Amino acid sequence: MSYYSPSIEKLVEAFEKLPSIGHKTAVRLAFHILDSSQEETNEFINAIQSAKANLKFCSKCFNISDTDPCPICANEKREKSTICVVEDVKDIIAMEKTHEFKGVYHVLHGSISPMNGIGPEDIKLKELISRLNPEEVKEVILATNPRVEGEATAMYISKLVKPLGIKVTRIAHGIPVGGDLEYTDEITLTKALEGRREI
Ligand SMILES: [Zn+2]
Repeated sequence: MSYYSPSIEKLVEAFEKLPSIGHKTAVRLAFHILDSSQEETNEFINAIQSAKANLKFCSKCFNISDTDPCPICANEKREKSTICVVEDVKDIIAMEKTHEFKGVYHVLHGSISPMNGIGPEDIKLKELISRLNPEEVKEVILATNPRVEGEATAMYISKLVKPLGIKVTRIAHGIPVGGDLEYTDEITLTKALEGRREI
């Protein structure tokens, strides 16, 4: 049995669905909304709606974009036969700055890290595998960060992709171990891409 009116109950339930929000917090947030002015409430609703409306994942590569597919996937000139696999959306920006890469991307949104309880099913890995039609895709470049997790992720992906008959390469180690693609300068990143080896 509920002590609240159905409208309040509905609001509490909506807050409860958010991560790390328990029942007590949900009730507090719901009453906070009820106490807010109409203007404050509208601002809150608009902020949620515009973030939702403007930013979405590209359904092909999982880049964050205003459009689906993202401008890179939608570009006819990009070679769909080469997929560069990165951990983060920000790594795409780093790679794009080199002006060297003409293929398309796949964003994993993380790396496999058993220490942190992140398994292969927690990153966009099955989405990558489902893109890999050997008729279309000729090379997968693994550009995960040169850290323990990034290396482990690259090895894991390589084992899945190679049996499909698709060439798998790993960017060269011009990037300092423990470094981030995001913070690597364009020349080093270009060299790392040029020096990629088959694994
Ligand atoms: Zn895309």
